[in-house]
Amino acid sequence: MAKITLDNIAHSYLSTPKDESDYALRLIDNIWDDGGAYALLGPSGCGKTTLLNIISGLLVPSKGRVLFDGKDVTNLPPEKRNIAQVFQFPVLYDTMTVFNNLAFPLKNRGFNKEDINKRVLEVAQILDLTDSLNKKAARLSADAKQKISLGRGLVREDVAAILFDEPLTVIDPHLKWQLRGKLKEVHEQLKLTFIYVTHDQVEALTFADQVIVMYEGAIVQIGTPQELFENPSHKFVGYFIGSPGMNFLPCKLNGNKAMINGIGIELDDKTADLGHKSHGNLELGIRPLYLEVHPQEVENSVPALVKSIEDQGTYKIITASLSGNILRARLPEGKETFSENAWLRFPKSWIRLFANDKLLTRP
Ligand code: ADP
Ligand code: MG
Repeated sequence: MAKITLDNIAHSYLSTPKDESDYALRLIDNIWDDGGAYALLGPSGCGKTTLLNIISGLLVPSKGRVLFDGKDVTNLPPEKRNIAQVFQFPVLYDTMTVFNNLAFPLKNRGFNKEDINKRVLEVAQILDLTDSLNKKAARLSADAKQKISLGRGLVREDVAAILFDEPLTVIDPHLKWQLRGKLKEVHEQLKLTFIYVTHDQVEALTFADQVIVMYEGAIVQIGTPQELFENPSHKFVGYFIGSPGMNFLPCKLNGNKAMINGIGIELDDKTADLGHKSHGNLELGIRPLYLEVHPQEVENSVPALVKSIEDQGTYKIITASLSGNILRARLPEGKETFSENAWLRFPKSWIRLFANDKLLTRP
């Protein structure tokens, strides 16, 4: 097992990169603790696979160093790093049986027959592959093949870390849910460092203790799912996490109020103080979950126009316009009916201020 240090890593696929836009990874400087369950979350093309391949040794970064437990492994090939990697698509030996596919990483490392048997059966059990152990891998469905790939990743307990690169892409939705749960269980049992790459926030938030959000070749925030939800450090995290994403309203301050086209929204003292001390374009952020919509005026509410109501089963999404700004609120399924006019209330404790896209926080 290992603590992984990414020491000032940058990577370009070009031989002579000129400016920042030539870098797939701009600057990553980070330490990931031993035994953590990490998710690397970000949109397609933001550099997740590049970073994972640098950790596994498939890629040598253009700049910086990778350390495992303080030891420089930057130039070591994957087989010398003691890491297991599971890719997006199945990687296995079609002509071998499922058993032999699972046993392969252990045989390779010289484990004895008894240990191999024991471990392969355990992993097969976890992944529901016990009945297929004697079948040739070629004869199985795409789902089952990817489960074998996962199994090959999980079978060694002596690895420093297991890296997963969007491993559930080819798995059908129902099984996805189940396998994600299994992976979490396995992590709790083995306490190995798991790094799980995904572009799917639900996958990241349900799997990981720590979610690393990437955007355009950089890490924008590392936090627990709750931290990312409640205090997104950057507007991108606000948008990307949550369904729908955070609302943002350009504003100016007037005393303790955030003014939005002449409409004042009351802030608590601390938030107002942060805003007064900030520089740059100010925006008020609030999660749809915390924005209240009332059919009648209530204390501290502001008038808005209801544009649409979407029924999502257990909740509804109301889209409203507040002096020309579009906002979304997520409301529990209730009896209230809304006409075109509604009143919005912004609970002070859930209002966040952003200046030039960054969350204002106390130092
Ligand atoms: P992600 O896994 O988040 O989708 P990648 O790490 O695959 O992102 O890609 C990051 C950036 O690097 C993208 O702009 C992609 O086009 C580029 N890239 C990835 N692999 C290569 C490669 N082998 N050669 C050149 N450019 C690449
Ligand atoms: Mg990728």
